[in-house]
Amino acid sequence: MSDIHIDIQNKTYTTADSVQHTAIANLKLTLPENNFVCLVGPSGCGKTTLLNIIASLDTQYKGEITFGQQHKKPKIGYIFQNPRLLPWRTVRENIELALTYASAAIIDSLLETMQLTHIQHKYPEHLSLGMSRRIAIIRAFAINPDILLMDEPFVSLDAPTARQVRGLLIDLWQQRPHTILFVTHDLREAIALADQLVFLSAAPMSVVSKVKVTIPRADRNNEEKIENFRQQLFTHYPDIISLL
Ligand code: ADP
Ligand code: MG
Repeated sequence: MSDIHIDIQNKTYTTADSVQHTAIANLKLTLPENNFVCLVGPSGCGKTTLLNIIASLDTQYKGEITFGQQHKKPKIGYIFQNPRLLPWRTVRENIELALTYASAAIIDSLLETMQLTHIQHKYPEHLSLGMSRRIAIIRAFAINPDILLMDEPFVSLDAPTARQVRGLLIDLWQQRPHTILFVTHDLREAIALADQLVFLSAAPMSVVSKVKVTIPRADRNNEEKIENFRQQLFTHYPDIISLL
């Protein structure tokens, strides 16, 4: 039900000096249900634009996004690049805001998995960036989405914190499988997380290559295996080097 068919003929922006800028052209992509897909492409290539289109935040484009076979709109969670927590609400209240009906048990279990139970009554100003990013993840998971969009959610975390939060994200995803579309320009991060990598060209954005990550989930913390896979990618898909 939650596979995604993307067919964007074009998406153009009109810049301040009235010039037409084609951000996306002929982007065709099918993302299978319950897959963890990482979109990798250079800065400014149109990744955020694509997520906004999938989330229906942007409807000014030519093409079609369809979901599953029934064309029924799935529940979509969106984690923006910036955690966007409300400063006047506590951690728990920020999570409850995402829910029309807040199940205390679900929030408790998400807080526990993300190791944040002890700070649930604190205000965002007292939190580290790593904690704020984990709360943004909980808020998105709490609605139990069919599809989760994540826009470079771990940028500017230090390496050990990013590794920890990635591990927690995978724990949550394995407890509640759904389709994840994760944007990053960090190829090692993408290899550590994804079932499938999708490499995207500079503007106008289209698909350059799709690659399955064959490293078993249990080995995704092994830096050497990640690095070997990365080197093999460069050998087999030389076109991607210019995208990173
Ligand atoms: P990415 O997320 O891959 O860095 P974006 O989707 O943010 O890329 O942007 C893709 C291109 O579209 C960039 O060239 C950007 O400058 C342009 N763009 C994005 N938003 C707007 C906008 N609101 N108006 C005009 N141009 C935009
Ligand atoms: Mg972006």
